[in-house]
Amino acid sequence: ERAREILESGARRGSNRLGVEAMELLDAYGIPTPQGDVVSSPVEAEAVAEEIGDDVVMKIVSPDILHKSDIGGVEVAVPVEEVRDTYEDLVVRARNYQEDATILGVQVQEMVDLDNGVETILGMNRDPQFGPLLLFGLGGIFVEVLEDNTVSVAPVSETEAKGMLDDIDSAPLLRGARGRDPVDEATLVETIQRLSQLVTDFPAIVELDINPLVATPDGVQAVDLRLTLD
Ligand code: ADP
Ligand code: MG
Repeated sequence: ERAREILESGARRGSNRLGVEAMELLDAYGIPTPQGDVVSSPVEAEAVAEEIGDDVVMKIVSPDILHKSDIGGVEVAVPVEEVRDTYEDLVVRARNYQEDATILGVQVQEMVDLDNGVETILGMNRDPQFGPLLLFGLGGIFVEVLEDNTVSVAPVSETEAKGMLDDIDSAPLLRGARGRDPVDEATLVETIQRLSQLVTDFPAIVELDINPLVATPDGVQAVDLRLTLD
């Protein structure tokens, strides 16, 4: 099916590392992703932004660039009229970082409302002994500082997925601490189970990270993706 094609197209490119160009893999498993597309020219980028009809986020797409924002490879809140120039800027920054980097294009993505959301991380590491270990925790800028996460062996039941939410110290943050609206917990639990299914179906995926997975009162949005094939 579609998911298999996406993984194979990565393998055909001779790269075992896939990024946001593989986000359709998440769509195929019903994990919500922001509207957008990966394009390979400034004009196409503008067309996608016009379709989105609002300021957009733009990201360099390259298997040689693991942490896009570290090299200036992510621009948020780009107005439509600046999309074409921003495309060129992102490519220049990638080339400055690594002259011979493979550049697949630029992702143009709908803005996600981070003010009303919590940035979480949802990932998987395949352990030779224990199998696929799902990781859930606080994401975004807090991920290294706070190291608040929990691990469970996939496949996980609904109860186990719920348990992962309960496990983290920041659980109250998801449940509406400090006057915030609680996030859509049911969708978050469902998303953990959907990723669990994905990594169970594809043993070739040895590592996967959705960071951030933005949880809001209305659902979740997988904003970034990185995965490694064996
Ligand atoms: P990387 O992790 O490779 O630097 P990300 O795609 O995770 O790239 O983007 C870096 C940060 O930019 C995110 O953690 C998030 O805070 C912000 N960001 C990325 N995409 C969006 C988006 N669609 N809407 C709002 N903020 C975003
Ligand atoms: Mg990220």
